[in-house]
Amino acid sequence: MFTNIYSLMPEELANKIKIEQLGSPVYRTKQLLFWLYKSYINEPDKMSNLPAEFKTYLLNNYSFYLPETDSKLVSSDKAIKYRLKLEDNELIESVLIPTEKKNTLCISTQVGCGRNCQFCSTAKMGLIRNLYNYEIVGQVIYAARQLKSSDNKKLTNLVLMGMGEPLDNLDNVLSALRILQSQEGLSFSPRRITVSTSGVVPGIIALADSGIKAKLALSLTSAIDSKRSKLMPVNKQYNLIELKQALLYYLRKSSYRITIEYILIPSFNMDDDDLKALSKYVGDLSCKINFIPYIPGKDSIFRAPTVKEINDFMYRAQSLPQAITLRKSRGADIFGACGQLNKNNLGAKI
Ligand code: SF4
Repeated sequence: MFTNIYSLMPEELANKIKIEQLGSPVYRTKQLLFWLYKSYINEPDKMSNLPAEFKTYLLNNYSFYLPETDSKLVSSDKAIKYRLKLEDNELIESVLIPTEKKNTLCISTQVGCGRNCQFCSTAKMGLIRNLYNYEIVGQVIYAARQLKSSDNKKLTNLVLMGMGEPLDNLDNVLSALRILQSQEGLSFSPRRITVSTSGVVPGIIALADSGIKAKLALSLTSAIDSKRSKLMPVNKQYNLIELKQALLYYLRKSSYRITIEYILIPSFNMDDDDLKALSKYVGDLSCKINFIPYIPGKDSIFRAPTVKEINDFMYRAQSLPQAITLRKSRGADIFGACGQLNKNNLGAKI
C-alpha cells in the first residue's frame, strides 16, 4: 500500500523527494505542494507544470486519496453537512458553517466515538476507528475545494468538534495540526483552530506539552460531579478536580483563553444550584462560556429548552464573572448541529 501523500509534513515530503528523485530541482517540490495545499488538486495528471517523469514517480510512490462525497445536505440556516466516504467505506461527517465574515469547518477525528456522552448521537455509533492524520487533513482540503469552486471563498476557521474525541486520537490529531498550520501546508493560524474535548485529562496535558498551539474548548455541561458523571462517563475517569488542574496547566502553557461549552438541558443543569457550581468552578479560569440550547437527536432522552427557559437562565447567568454567549447550534434540520452527527442521520439529500 502506498503512503498517502497528505500524511507527510511538507518538509518531510520535500526531503523524501530530494533523496528519491536525485537531480529534481528544489522548486519542483514547491510546485507540488502548491497543487496539493493551495490549489487543492489531488490528481498529478492535472498538475500542469510538473514534468511527465515526475508525475510518474509520484503515482508510483504515493496515494493521493482524499475523502469522497457520499452526500451533501444543506440546512435552512445555510450550514452544509458533508457525509464523506473513506477508503475502507467508513463514513464520517464534516459541517461547514458560513457566516458573513467567517467560514468555519467542524471536522471529525474518529469514526464514531467511545466516550458515550448521553446528549450525543455520535456516541450511539460506538468507536469504530481512529482517523489517520491525512483523513483529518483531507476533510479540510475537501471543504476548501468545495468553497473555492462554488463561491470562490476560503475556509477561515477549523473546529475539531465533529465525530469523535480528538484527544483519544492524539498522535493523528497532533500530526494533522502540524500539517494544517505549516506555511507550506494549509497555513492556518493556531488562533483559528479549536480542539474540543469532553475532558480527557492526559490528552489536555499532552496537547499543552506538545508545543503545538491551538485553542481549547471543553464540553463541561455540569460543574457538579454526580450530574456530570451521569451525562458524560469521562467524568468517572477524570473528575472535575483533576480536570480543573489540567485546564490550569493548559492555560499556563498556552496564551489562549479556554472556551467552556455548556449545553442547556432543562430539568437537568439549568437550576440555581447548577449556576452556583459553575460560577465556583470557573471563578479562577481564564475562559469564556458558551451556552448551547440542547437539540434532541433521534431517540433522545432529553428535551430542548423552551425560549422562556433559555431567557430565564441567561438572565441569571449574567452573575457569572466570565464573558458569556448564547450560541445557537446551526444545521439542526439536517442533523448537523452539535451532538447530532451520526452517519445514519439523514436530512433531505441534494
Ligand atoms: S460529545 Fe464528543 S466526546 Fe462525547 S460522545 Fe459525542 S463525539 Fe464523543
